Amino acid sequence: MRPAQALIDLEALRHNYRLARRLGGGKALAVIKADAYGHGAVACARALEAEADGFGVACIEEALELRRAGITKPVLLLEGFFDAAELPLIVEHGLWTAVASQWQVDALAAFRTEAVLKVWLKLDSGMHRLGLSVEEFRAAHARLSTLPHVGPMVLMSHFARADELDSTRTQEQVDTFNRAVEGLAGETSLCNSPALLGWPQVRSDWVRPGLMLYGADPLYPQPSPHAAQLRPVMTLQSRVIAVREIGIGEPLGYGARFVAEKPTRVGVVAMGYADGYPQFAPNGTPVLIDGVPGQLIGRVSMDMLTVDLSDHPQAGLGSVVQLWGNAPTLSELAPRCNTSAYRLPCSLKRAEKIYL
Ligand SMILES: *Cc1c(COP(=O)(O)O)cnc(C)c1O
Repeated sequence: MRPAQALIDLEALRHNYRLARRLGGGKALAVIKADAYGHGAVACARALEAEADGFGVACIEEALELRRAGITKPVLLLEGFFDAAELPLIVEHGLWTAVASQWQVDALAAFRTEAVLKVWLKLDSGMHRLGLSVEEFRAAHARLSTLPHVGPMVLMSHFARADELDSTRTQEQVDTFNRAVEGLAGETSLCNSPALLGWPQVRSDWVRPGLMLYGADPLYPQPSPHAAQLRPVMTLQSRVIAVREIGIGEPLGYGARFVAEKPTRVGVVAMGYADGYPQFAPNGTPVLIDGVPGQLIGRVSMDMLTVDLSDHPQAGLGSVVQLWGNAPTLSELAPRCNTSAYRLPCSLKRAEKIYL
């Protein structure tokens, strides 16, 4: 069997969820969209179901996958419905929906049902992606409040730059939010992971942690005492499947991106960009070889990559090579590869997932 594996530590996931909930001081919606950022949405939802206040997903397809797997906790469609035709399914499966555009307000008002829907009304407080303007938001709140099929709402907004601790933008968004919700009935929800870790003064009834559940630090490399308590959930690893020595001046792999300046012992590892490892990881990208820090050399190919074993005399055929996990962490690895800690696990494919 090909030894490329993603080990997923569900106890670490629970630990990180508890940390997020404690930092938020209220309820926490575990964001498991995009297949739980590549970690497997159903497995993560099952691991958290006993304690999570609810789950956040990107679309009804993701929500129905959870319901089909027997998840009964609240599930929020973070972007709402894409089409009014989804509303009967939302009722049937007891889903919660964001309402973030005027056309969604209109569709909801025109919808007829005996059921009472749970709506998270979304304000655009400055990100300018989804959400209603302050005036639209207050008008929508008044209109939806009169509908018998809309229950108590949650008032939400989303931060654009909470990972930048020196930016004034997050506080400006909070001020806009406070102005918009003044006097309106409803619980509130603001914080994503970077806000939870970096803006402890921002309070709301519900927080919406995503990335931090998986143990990655969105504030890196800015120091954060809370982020230091996170535990990485995914360990991506494989094994050395071939070893060879190359002499001075000899090239390695596609494009001869690495040329040996000294006799070099090369380990070939069964892991490539088709597994989700970043294709453009440069020479020198950190890896762990049988637990000892080492480096990638040569261009990453679809199914294989190469590491320098010259300083690892103990390592050889069958040695375990860790690509990410406790070291290097997703947050350390991402900037070296011109990508983000969000994207790395989302790219995971083919490598077998093993739940611990
Ligand atoms: C994805 C998402 C989150 C989670 O964000 P993280 O930065 O991963 O914590 C929270 N709220 C909304 C609306 C989202 O789309």
